[in-house]
Amino acid sequence: MLRLEKVNKYYRVGTHSLHALRDVELKVADGEFVAIMGASGSGKSTLLNILGILDDYDSGDYWLGDTLIRNLTERRSANYRNRFIGFVFQSFNLLPFKTALENVALPLYYQGVRRRKRNQIAGQYLERVGLRDWSEHTPSEMSGGQKQRVAIARALVGKPRLILADEPTGALDSETSAQIMDLLSEIHQTGITVLVVTHDAEVAARTSGSSGYATARSSTIVTAGASNPKLPAMAGPRWAQSSRCSCSGSRSWS
Ligand code: ADP
Ligand code: MG
Repeated sequence: MLRLEKVNKYYRVGTHSLHALRDVELKVADGEFVAIMGASGSGKSTLLNILGILDDYDSGDYWLGDTLIRNLTERRSANYRNRFIGFVFQSFNLLPFKTALENVALPLYYQGVRRRKRNQIAGQYLERVGLRDWSEHTPSEMSGGQKQRVAIARALVGKPRLILADEPTGALDSETSAQIMDLLSEIHQTGITVLVVTHDAEVAARTSGSSGYATARSSTIVTAGASNPKLPAMAGPRWAQSSRCSCSGSRSWS
């Protein structure tokens, strides 16, 4: 699915340069459910932004599938993002004055899907996250957990092969966090590769299994993950009812 080789990232801050990622090595296979852990400021979000082609890196190689992701034009990187990647953020990043349905439909708008069709598809995805009855509500009328479900539906609506989640449970209580991790686990079972950044060991444990690491500037980003070799490349919309993942299986990291 993706591979980082000796990736380095610097931020220029005034006359200084901050070495945010140092020789990061990471390999994620199709269908894995991986947690990336590290202390605050260790470069987790920086790493995720590079993986999501939201930001560039300074040296090394980033392969997404067979494509070397480096110095892409804005148009090409947007194209890869839209085709392959769904994002979930700690702060949900929903548009406040749009309804849940409109928020989920937004990626389809950018793909040029007509309003009727995109509302129909967005409705299906809201149903998949258990929020069909909340279609017409705005984010301010919803709980944190519900907002994150809307954000997950929005991440899924473009049929991504990879979900990148940056501290998706960071703003939620522990019970709601567990529910969101259940949802991500169900998504993983449909064959989508899921990468979760977290500093919560309980959240990371939900991805189960563990091996490999990547070295960041000031600490170690530990990755824990599980592969699910039984999975089809992309399954239908039934994951919301599917049973829990056994999350076993061998894996290797470079
Ligand atoms: P984490 O997500 O693990 O908390 P970040 O990736 O956000 O860490 O940040 C890693 C380091 O890079 C931190 O020292 C942070 O202050 C710095 N940093 C992050 N983004 C920027 C930026 N846009 N400009 C300058 N420094 C940044
Ligand atoms: Mg961060």
